[in-house]
Amino acid sequence: MAVRLVMLGPPGAGKGTQAERFARSRGLARISTGDMLREAVQQGTELGRQAKALMDAGRLVSDDVMIGIVRERLARPDAVRGFVLDGFPRTVAQAHALDEMLDDDSPLIVIDVDVPDETLVRRLGARRICKVCGWTAPPGPLVCEKCGGELVQRRDDGAEVVRERLRVFGNESRPLVDFYQQRPTFRSVDGDQVPEAVAADISAAVASVLGDQR
Ligand code: AMP
Repeated sequence: MAVRLVMLGPPGAGKGTQAERFARSRGLARISTGDMLREAVQQGTELGRQAKALMDAGRLVSDDVMIGIVRERLARPDAVRGFVLDGFPRTVAQAHALDEMLDDDSPLIVIDVDVPDETLVRRLGARRICKVCGWTAPPGPLVCEKCGGELVQRRDDGAEVVRERLRVFGNESRPLVDFYQQRPTFRSVDGDQVPEAVAADISAAVASVLGDQR
């Protein structure tokens, strides 16, 4: 059965790190809409031009645009074999659209990574990404472990934009938990732990969903 997983959680919850780790360990496609948009901005495409101002302000790119991007991405062969979605859906409209994109062959597992606001603000303030390849660095290294590039603060991790992103998350994305939580494939994990512990909880949550499906 293909594993299809959605990672929910606020900015700074560690979704990206956990999504990458889980996808790598299971040979799944990791689909990060934030990374896709940042790449488009870096390449100066039409999409990147449209998205940049919204991202810099901590606002969301329109549902239509995001749904189109994800629909196209999920049709690629690597994603058909299974995927981890990181950063999508971010609105209830996107969640409805995702349900329509998927056939009923495999369950959509939804993991909510729960982290208190104080931790998020602290983590986002300290977060650094590689200027060259976009890798998100864990605390510690001074240069990118993947390509040796310079680590810098993400444009939208400044204090003011973080406040706006958390506000937008509360209004637009928190309702996703209500949308999904009645499903038997929904699990919440405590994201306020060291990454290894969060990863172990995610693996256990996925195993329990797949066990229930048998
Ligand atoms: P992220 O890296 O997931 O924090 O995303 C960075 C920024 O990209 C967000 O603050 C939004 O401006 C935009 N973005 C990423 N994913 C979505 C989405 N599913 N819907 C709308 N905007 C998005």
